[in-house]
This record gives sequence, structure tokens and C-alpha cells, in this order.
Amino acid sequence: MNDTVSHTQNYDQNYNPDRVVITSSSNQDIKRLRSLHERKYRKQTGWFLAEGLRICTEALQQGFAPQRLLYEDGRETDPLIANLIIACEQAGGRVLPVTRSLLVKVSNKDNPQTVIGAYQQFTTPLSDILASDVTCWVALDRIRDPGNLGTIIRTIDAVAADGIILIDDCTDPFSVESVRASMGAIFTLKISVCSSDEFLIFKQNFSGDVIGTALQSSSDYKQANWRSPCIILMGNEQAGLPATLRNACDQLISMPMLGRSDSLNLSVATGIALYEYLRHQPS
Ligand code: SAM
Repeated sequence: MNDTVSHTQNYDQNYNPDRVVITSSSNQDIKRLRSLHERKYRKQTGWFLAEGLRICTEALQQGFAPQRLLYEDGRETDPLIANLIIACEQAGGRVLPVTRSLLVKVSNKDNPQTVIGAYQQFTTPLSDILASDVTCWVALDRIRDPGNLGTIIRTIDAVAADGIILIDDCTDPFSVESVRASMGAIFTLKISVCSSDEFLIFKQNFSGDVIGTALQSSSDYKQANWRSPCIILMGNEQAGLPATLRNACDQLISMPMLGRSDSLNLSVATGIALYEYLRHQPS
């Protein structure tokens, strides 16, 4: 079946005569992009999806050009989409004008964004953290909820901290849900992935404090020494921090729980800690 039916408008000097409108979901690029909803294929390809003009533009501002750029045919005259098209092609990627129904299929949403980009995943080795100028990182032990992770990434960006360290079996920071919840902030920070053993070894060589958060602690978070560099260590949504990680912390703090709930949501607790850290930094 022929999945290319017409040429897009010649809207600028970067017109690519091969840029044809894709209408079929059996197109190889479309199949590959749809597969990126699954972690297995994200791992295989090293790619991930970012949806929406705002997020893709944020990515471009941070120096990330898409490997594939899917956009609704006819929208290429929008200056922001035109910029993305140029950046994608200049970086050796492929632009894919599609029908609205294909955008719906790739995004898995009834009301999709007009643009979807496929990007190369990026991670930073722990050793690079030691070698760099650290202000504040957030380490997350076995975080499971992609919405929590995206929200935490967004908050890290809000306080201009450095990045996240994902310890042991965490949800994928490059899942569509996590990227969506980060509102594009995923492109503004660094991501490191390690086991708890690797984190404990790394910690021995880290010059700042690891500040753990745990309900078991009797030290109020406001009393902590929030000097930079530091790593704020957060526990799993269900189980909290295990004793091995708690024992490795230089400081262990808690936020008061004055009502009937026994704990805060993980991303809320991370936000409180990050803003307390920020409050103690010289302006
Ligand atoms: N049942 C778990 C426990 O016993 O720790 C609750 C985990 S809580 C939902 C998830 C994470 O958020 C915790 O591991 C901790 O890092 C942080 N957290 C939540 N509420 C907190 C509080 N009041 N004080 C300190 N950390 C808190």
C-alpha cells in the first residue's frame, strides 16, 4: 500500500521534495515511533518521545534536535514548527508530516498535540558528577510513579538544581508519562542511573552531604545543614528508604505530619526539600 499521497507546501528555501505526507500506520517510521510507548523498545532504540510544540521547542533551546519530527500536515508554516523542521533536518533526522488520525495513533491520545519528536536518550555517569561543579542533585530510590518522576524533574528545574540520580529499579524517566509531567524540564537537567551499591561507593567520594528524608527521623527539615553541594535522597513511594541507604546519609530529616496522614506524596516531599535547600542558598 502506498502510504505517501502528496507533497507539502514549498514554504521556504529548506523545502525537501521528499517530505511527503504519511497517511498509513504501517509506515516504518510510524511503527517505530508508536513502539516507543513501550520501555522495551525505548531501551532497544535509545530513543524517546516528547509531545507538543512547547516541549519540543524547549528541547531545541537546550540544544536537542529531534531524530524524527512528526507534525500535522499543513502546520509547517508555524514559525516554531518551521524551526523544528530545520533543526531536525540539519541534525540528520527525518521530518514526517502526517494526518491528524496518525498523530492520534502515535500519541495514544484523542486530542493529540500538533508535534511529536523522537529524541536520543541521555544519561550522565556517576563519575562525571564527581568531576563536575555540583550544587544539588536529587537521588530517588526505586521511584515507581512516572507522574511523580516528571513532577520532581520539573521542580528540580524550577530551583536550578543539577539533576536526578535514579537508584535501582526506577520508573523510566523517558516514558511518555514522565516526559509529559516534566513539561519539557527533562531536557534541562542531567540524569544518572545506578544501583544502590554503586551509589554507596559514589557517596564515599562525594564532597558534600547526602541529606536523606525519612519518616523515622526526628530531625526537622528546617534544622538541616542545607549547604551546597548536596544530594537530597528520597525513598520509594510504598517502602520509603531502606536501612542501607538511610545509614549512609550524613543527615536524615523529616517534615512534620500534623494531621491524620502518615506521609506526604513523594513529589510534594521532594518539592519541600528542594525549596528549603534553595532558601538557604546565597542569592
Ligand atoms: N510508607 C513509606 C515510609 O514509611 O517511608 C512512605 C513513603 S513516602 C510516600 C515516600 C517518600 O517521600 C519517603 O521515603 C520520603 O523520602 C518522602 N517523605 C514523605 N513524607 C515525608 C515526611 N513527612 N518526612 C520526610 N520525608 C517524607
